[in-house]
Amino acid sequence: MKDRFYSFNNYLKKMFGERIHRLSLDAGFSCPNLDATLSSQGCIYCNNRGFSRFAYTNSALESQIEESIEFYNQRYGVKKFIAYFQAFTNTYASLEELSKAYEVIKKYPEIVGLTISTRPDCVDEEKIKLISQYTKDYLVWIEYGLQTTHNHLLENINRNHTYEDFLKAFRLTRNYGINVGVHLILGLPSQNHNQILEDAKELASLDIQGIKFHVFHVLKDTPLEKMYEQKRVNLLDKEEYVKIVCDFLERIPRFFVILRLVSDASDKYLVAPSWINRKQEVIEAIKKELEKRETFQGYRLTDSMKTHESTGCKSK
Ligand code: SF4
Repeated sequence: MKDRFYSFNNYLKKMFGERIHRLSLDAGFSCPNLDATLSSQGCIYCNNRGFSRFAYTNSALESQIEESIEFYNQRYGVKKFIAYFQAFTNTYASLEELSKAYEVIKKYPEIVGLTISTRPDCVDEEKIKLISQYTKDYLVWIEYGLQTTHNHLLENINRNHTYEDFLKAFRLTRNYGINVGVHLILGLPSQNHNQILEDAKELASLDIQGIKFHVFHVLKDTPLEKMYEQKRVNLLDKEEYVKIVCDFLERIPRFFVILRLVSDASDKYLVAPSWINRKQEVIEAIKKELEKRETFQGYRLTDSMKTHESTGCKSK
């Protein structure tokens, strides 16, 4: 068997027939979990400098886009791009401010897609309607930071939203035909293996289009760093992570796009575990584990769940 999971690269190749690169952007938005609306501490692991290349850059979106397009075009010959509004919460502003930021992509014919990363409690019908206008000409995804479907685990990491908030946002987004990606963190404080499998079962039953896996990791200058120094948190080792991801993949439909199998972080900010920055090694280990098991994404689902096709994908 060639591909044991449905990678984002394969999805994009199928759709565009060539390599596409995501341009990670900081549009200068904030987050209600940082600006004292919900909390001023943020999620316990939050340090956007460690997550995103352009976070806190203060440079105009145009400069970020042009710099990245030039780099990926010259170094790798990439000609088409997805604008990825990644840093902070990219629907947390007025409609006018959001529209001004998203409209920048229209200046660049190389941009064929728009991905907006946000919190599930930061969308409403007007914002979703605004984003849906781009589906006519662009591949559009909204990626929601859910992290887990278990509310008590969300409380442990100070997310300040619930699974129910996600369900509401997800339904609204799908009503407008926008692709929904879900960010999940594996290895949260007090999270057990069963709870992760419950997340897989729950998400497998929803009309979502993709999942992005993150390893719970410690960045500098975060509340989590202090907890880690005080030995109050356990982190997954590589072997545990590989097994959990494979267990998860076996329980979700084959048409869910795997937006990312493992997160990495800026070396400058990563405290632990260091293995997450050996990304290719982790991906290879996941592939090998699935081969050893002779299983694949969707292996443990009934036939009807394996083959149900998503309808939310649009291309330029
Ligand atoms: S929602 Fe995102 S930006 Fe906001 S505090 Fe959490 S990790 Fe940071």
